[in-house]
Amino acid sequence: MLGTLISSQPVHIYGAGIAGLILAYRLKKSHVPFTLYEKNRVGGKIATTLTPLGPAEAAASTLYMNISAEKFITDLNIPYLISTPKLKRRIWKEDGPHSVFSLKLLSKGITKIGKKFPLIMEDSTVEEIFYPFLGQELIDELLSSALQGIHGAEAKDLHFLSIFPMAKNKHFKNYLHFFKELKKSISSQKGTIKGSISFPGGMQTLINALYEEVKENIKPVPENFSLTPNTVICTDALDAAELLKDEAPEIAKELQKIEYRPITSFTFFRESEIPELHECFGMLIPQKFKKNLLGVIHQSALFPENYKSHCYNSVNKGILNKEEAILELESVFPKFDPEKIKESKLTQWKRGLPLFNYHRYQAIQNIERKLKKRPGLMLFGNYTKGISIRSMIEDGQTVLNRLNND
Ligand SMILES: Cc1cc2nc3c(=O)[nH]c(=O)nc-3n(C[C@H](O)[C@H](O)[C@H](O)COP(=O)(O)OP(=O)(O)OC[C@H]3O[C@@H](n4cnc5c(N)ncnc54)[C@H](O)[C@@H]3O)c2cc1C
Repeated sequence: MLGTLISSQPVHIYGAGIAGLILAYRLKKSHVPFTLYEKNRVGGKIATTLTPLGPAEAAASTLYMNISAEKFITDLNIPYLISTPKLKRRIWKEDGPHSVFSLKLLSKGITKIGKKFPLIMEDSTVEEIFYPFLGQELIDELLSSALQGIHGAEAKDLHFLSIFPMAKNKHFKNYLHFFKELKKSISSQKGTIKGSISFPGGMQTLINALYEEVKENIKPVPENFSLTPNTVICTDALDAAELLKDEAPEIAKELQKIEYRPITSFTFFRESEIPELHECFGMLIPQKFKKNLLGVIHQSALFPENYKSHCYNSVNKGILNKEEAILELESVFPKFDPEKIKESKLTQWKRGLPLFNYHRYQAIQNIERKLKKRPGLMLFGNYTKGISIRSMIEDGQTVLNRLNND
């Protein structure tokens, strides 16, 4: 999150998506008075529709775990489901699905792991840094596909230091050195739960649990927004810009520079399995094949306890209707039969995911500088540090640390 709070003042939070709810919950636990204002729907993008066959998610379907997420969920005291371990991961190529960990990759990796690590420039992209190690083919097939699965963007569009903040101010001798440091930083954050979790009834269960904790403090949005200390804006960057346009135009201008990728999520249930995804976590589709489909997650393989039928979630770039989302699936699964779909849910997100490019990085740095002159104003959401719920859980703790050290 960006900015600081003043410890003696109550907190006004705008936006009750997962960021606003996490923050509100943390403040409640620390006995800091707060009010939470939501314009539309508590939970924001996280919304589950309960169908007779199981939960269908609109956006996030899993919470990737680490020690902070584990502490948070334990403290909240809700039952959770741990993802099935050792599911296979697939990558699509013209002739069908392939294993992610191919011999080709292993042989390339072994020969180039000792190669000199490029100098990290302030504006380096992920592609620029990994090109000497992977080459264009593996970047397109593997790295970009994996990044798309999380960020909805390819390696060439992602800013290296935003995706690997552990590399800031560091110099790596070679790729082996980098991977060792990356592993160290991930291991230091590891908890006891491996992989990711969901909840009985899906992600809405997490939202409901947080809502129960903070509901007494939720109020309708006041007609006139005023920037009283403390104000924390937990909307997306463009809604934050709208709120701040009169009272903090210099910050609003920076927020407007943050770009969003439109995303369509299509969740569907079938009685029969998609054979290509048997015992699979899911499949990624490299962008070089010029499809809208970015990937398919096999929800019922990950969390079988939640489902009475096979459930898949396909994630597409752009805004698609149901027919278009099905056409995308038919293009990668030749025997895909739409008649077999029993239930489905399509969600179109015009501002699906913030793009972690160099423009965002620069805007965030400028905002941080400007916020130094405005104690009592904070910005927090999936564009400020990391896209995932886990990252927002970690960041929510930062607010308290900063308040407690005040
Ligand atoms: C398809 C998809 C799949 C995803 N999968 C995963 C996943 O598996 N795991 C994961 O960790 N993450 C995942 N994510 C990312 C994650 O879902 C989002 O990053 C997260 O939900 C965003 O939360 P937020 O609170 O930052 O924003 P939002 O959910 O957008 O919430 C912002 C809230 O602010 C409110 N608001 C706006 N303006 C105002 C105003 N003026 N006053 C008051 N309130 C206002 C809005 O109504 C909204 O409720 C996924 C995202 C997408 C799109």
